[in-house]
Amino acid sequence: SAHAAGGVREMARDDGYGELGKRFEEYLLAGIPALKKAGYNPIAFLGMIKTSGGVSTAKKLLASAEDTSYGFAKLWEKKKLDASVEFAVCLPWFRELFTEEELDRAEFRLTEHHFDLDQVHAAPVPDWCAAPTPEPPRAAGRPAAAPTYRQRVEAEEAAQRARPATITALTTDVVRSTVFRSLVLQRAGGRCENPRCGHPGFHVIGRNEMPIVEVDHVHGLKEGGPDHPVNMVVLCPNCHAVKTRGQDTAVTELRKLLAGIAQQRHEAAMAGA
Ligand SMILES: [Zn+2]
Repeated sequence: SAHAAGGVREMARDDGYGELGKRFEEYLLAGIPALKKAGYNPIAFLGMIKTSGGVSTAKKLLASAEDTSYGFAKLWEKKKLDASVEFAVCLPWFRELFTEEELDRAEFRLTEHHFDLDQVHAAPVPDWCAAPTPEPPRAAGRPAAAPTYRQRVEAEEAAQRARPATITALTTDVVRSTVFRSLVLQRAGGRCENPRCGHPGFHVIGRNEMPIVEVDHVHGLKEGGPDHPVNMVVLCPNCHAVKTRGQDTAVTELRKLLAGIAQQRHEAAMAGA
């Protein structure tokens, strides 16, 4: 029976997410010693896993009103984000346990902290995941590559086209794409994109552990500017204030400049530069 098989895998039990859910929980538990070695003893995190199981714990942390999971800030300080729950969630072989929204959130938190998502795809594929029979010519069990900027833009464009037009017509607030926002922040590396920024290199992390920058629509949505990365730039608070509250002449000039920057950056990212 299941009880007889206890022992080593005692904590990794079926929490409704099947075999893969158990593997995920095992992965989180196996990472605990590395966390402790990094000087972070995740007592509350362990308690959550014990109570709710690994997958539910990850889902709770991702849904949390806090912008980052418990311990994320500490791991970020120690440059150990590859030990975070967000990293585990993004691993190709665990992705099916999570919703698109959860995956977006996890990726967003990592990229906003300048974590290179390629590291997720460089992680060694576990034995249990590797295809048992050779599948030439592709390397067995190799995960699909991370979607590129271009692929994500095109997927979001398609999703927007599929969204019924009545939704935007009926709401007074303009619907903004969180995917595009996240892509633009990633494109900018979380820094001000104004080439004439008065504080180049400005980089401050806020209370929510996010860089203090703002994503701006060069041509405002209310004036009919598109909610699309080609019309979006990342600005530091000062440049953003100049653009929205500066003298007319300064604003006109800055807008022209930023329109060009948004287009250039977008095209470069689309080309994979
Ligand atoms: Zn700036």
